[in-house]
Amino acid sequence: MGWFRDWKRRRVLAQHRIDDALWKRARRYLPFLKGLSADEEKRLRDMAVIFLAEKQFTAVQGLQLSDQDRVEIALQACLPVLELGIDWYDGWIGIIVHPSDFKVERTRMDEDGVVHEWRDELAGESWPGGPVVLSWEALDESGSVARGGANVVLHEFAHKIDMLTGDADGVPPLPSREARERWTKVFDAEFDRFCAQVEKGKDSFLDPYAAEHEAEFFAVASEAFFESPNALRKDFPKLYELFKEFYRQDPASRLSA
Ligand SMILES: [Zn+2]
Repeated sequence: MGWFRDWKRRRVLAQHRIDDALWKRARRYLPFLKGLSADEEKRLRDMAVIFLAEKQFTAVQGLQLSDQDRVEIALQACLPVLELGIDWYDGWIGIIVHPSDFKVERTRMDEDGVVHEWRDELAGESWPGGPVVLSWEALDESGSVARGGANVVLHEFAHKIDMLTGDADGVPPLPSREARERWTKVFDAEFDRFCAQVEKGKDSFLDPYAAEHEAEFFAVASEAFFESPNALRKDFPKLYELFKEFYRQDPASRLSA
């Protein structure tokens, strides 16, 4: 059915686009979208259009989502897969948005591999094969919190990428056994180093929450990779290089240019 999906996507792109005013506002609000080349920007906008057409947004508890909200969620969700492809988000359609933080009784990861979140006031949840759940309040803070490197959308969609291999374990899909072995070696060493720092009470720009589990380290470091790449490159150069190769993007160079 690949041809049918491709045809549908071409049709969506022929009929829809992200309005310039919405794009400009998103760029102002989400500073990490800066530095993209004209080609990258066009592909990101097209990808977001397809994302908006294929995903189903549900606002709950009386919340109303604006076009700007939906566009900003789509752009942030699509940035990590800009070079990997929108197909990385196939297999599920729901994005549920709560007005504010929602309470989750369970912690960490249950037997089904569901990852649950509660980070300060920000909140989100990613279900394997199911929806992404976001708090609008946390989304709203993402723009201003961007300076500190926290971003609930990047975080939850990093979990989605991680879970493509079945488990949320900090190992995303990689092209070969050699690549997986190298990933595990570098990633585990950086995770251990970070956990040791947290244990010693050493300050890091990465949220100490990332020490909870490899999956959280992957998601929090992915947020940083796109939002504060220079800090990640400085403090975790090997991890930065690993992510650069995996995501096929170099946000530190892009944002410094
Ligand atoms: Zn998480």
